[in-house]
Amino acid sequence: MDKSKCESLIKKHLVKMMRELDINWSIRWKCSALSDCDAQINKESNYFDALITVDHEQIEDEDYLKKTLRHELLHTFTCEIDLLADQIQSVVSEKEYEILKKTIEHCDEMIVLRIERLLDSL
Ligand SMILES: [Zn+2]
Repeated sequence: MDKSKCESLIKKHLVKMMRELDINWSIRWKCSALSDCDAQINKESNYFDALITVDHEQIEDEDYLKKTLRHELLHTFTCEIDLLADQIQSVVSEKEYEILKKTIEHCDEMIVLRIERLLDSL
């Protein structure tokens, strides 16, 4: 998708989606190339602050963008996992944390996927 079109669609949908999902975070966003996914969210869960990056080149159409934005927004629902991960990181070695981090990220993704399925079934 063209970058300016993607940006205007994000402006059109993001705040409305945040309201619908009752997400009261400070969410910044940008369109930028990503190597291994079509979008990502970088959260500062302690501060309810996040940056969503959307790779406009990988976005097919408006519906795909909306699903992508919803997915990234739903990751704010798992912010307590980030706080737990920070605690775990402070008590285990770097090597142990690298192993645990993969499982933590997998669990986070599975929770978001289940919430998406639930929303799709309503
Ligand atoms: Zn995800």
